[in-house]
Amino acid sequence: MTTLTNLLDFDPAQLVAYCAGLGEKPFRAKQLQRWIHQFGAADFDSMTDLAKSLRDKLKTRAEIRSPSVISDNTSTDGTRKWLVDVGNGNAVETVFIPEENRGTLCISTQAGCAVNCRFCSTGKQGFNRNLTVSEIIGQLWMAEFELRRTKGIEPGPKGERQITNVVMMGMGEPLLNFEPTVTALKLMLDDNAYGLSRRRVTLSTSGVVPMMDKLSQEVPVALAVSLHASNDALRDGLVPLNKKYPLRDLMAACKRYLAFAPRDFITFEYCMLDGVNDTDEHARELLALVNDPVLGVSCKFNLIPFNPFPESGLLRSKNPRIKGFAQVLMDGGLVTTIRKTRGDDIDAACGQLAGEVQDRTRVQERMEKMDEYKKKFGANFGRIVEIAS
Ligand code: SF4
Repeated sequence: MTTLTNLLDFDPAQLVAYCAGLGEKPFRAKQLQRWIHQFGAADFDSMTDLAKSLRDKLKTRAEIRSPSVISDNTSTDGTRKWLVDVGNGNAVETVFIPEENRGTLCISTQAGCAVNCRFCSTGKQGFNRNLTVSEIIGQLWMAEFELRRTKGIEPGPKGERQITNVVMMGMGEPLLNFEPTVTALKLMLDDNAYGLSRRRVTLSTSGVVPMMDKLSQEVPVALAVSLHASNDALRDGLVPLNKKYPLRDLMAACKRYLAFAPRDFITFEYCMLDGVNDTDEHARELLALVNDPVLGVSCKFNLIPFNPFPESGLLRSKNPRIKGFAQVLMDGGLVTTIRKTRGDDIDAACGQLAGEVQDRTRVQERMEKMDEYKKKFGANFGRIVEIAS
């Protein structure tokens, strides 16, 4: 049996090379790419401006296949969450967050995660495997055209685009799955695919320093860095990767990245953990760090109310404390936002905060236990938080 080549795995240059292998000119690859990524076509027969001989060739050798959807839930606030099957009992989450002037899709890049941040339930579940290009870009492909179908919006460039921003903040550390992530990013930015500007695509990293440099050379999209601590001793305990790439190295990498970034600041994400990293002193230490004449970097802060989960042994900082912390940063001249909670009625949750999913059995278990968890940890357990940048 011939294995079909999944065309969702190809970036623009690779699709040109694939078409060349079939004896086709580069413009055919562009046409094909537009059918796939702008019209959401999965059926070669619908690609009417391709020669029948090419369509026939493609039908016997290729396919356009995104990962299948296990569940699809929409919150009363419009947040929509898909649980996407990535094989062998693994699943990842894709979450769409509609706002007045934009629609943001949060996508995953790995099943599980090896970084094991202390406050992250994805990390607690360990690493399963890297997602392929088609599994990464397939989340955007599936979501954009599913959203359009739901609203009755025609596919193609004339139909209103539903996803205007993408954040790689779901499950996994994207820079530890570098090549597939970069290939997917190239498709997001390509004019014959999604045509998103680099400012509208944000990659979030826990600070894989050498790969930050590599990203700056290959596809420098907007960067968010999971900081979560104001000094190395604290960060070593929260983000184990800090032992390998301590703050001095991380800040220097951020500075280097800015020379290529589409924005003139780095977004630092900071998960607010009750009694751990949330005092005024921590905030002042952060101010000193980002204003340091040598280490300092142009930045804004995004404070994230922690979503408690049982194994973490951590609690969310109280709201007045989060506001007090933000005030110290703002008084020090830093732009600071606090993420809002959304989609709580469907348990849509940021992979970084409550990414509960890596296999169906555990998802089921957790879903069944939601009421129990909510009683124990409060009604906010499992809520998604909105990126308010
Ligand atoms: S916060 Fe991100 S990098 Fe850290 S364990 Fe979770 S998914 Fe991995």
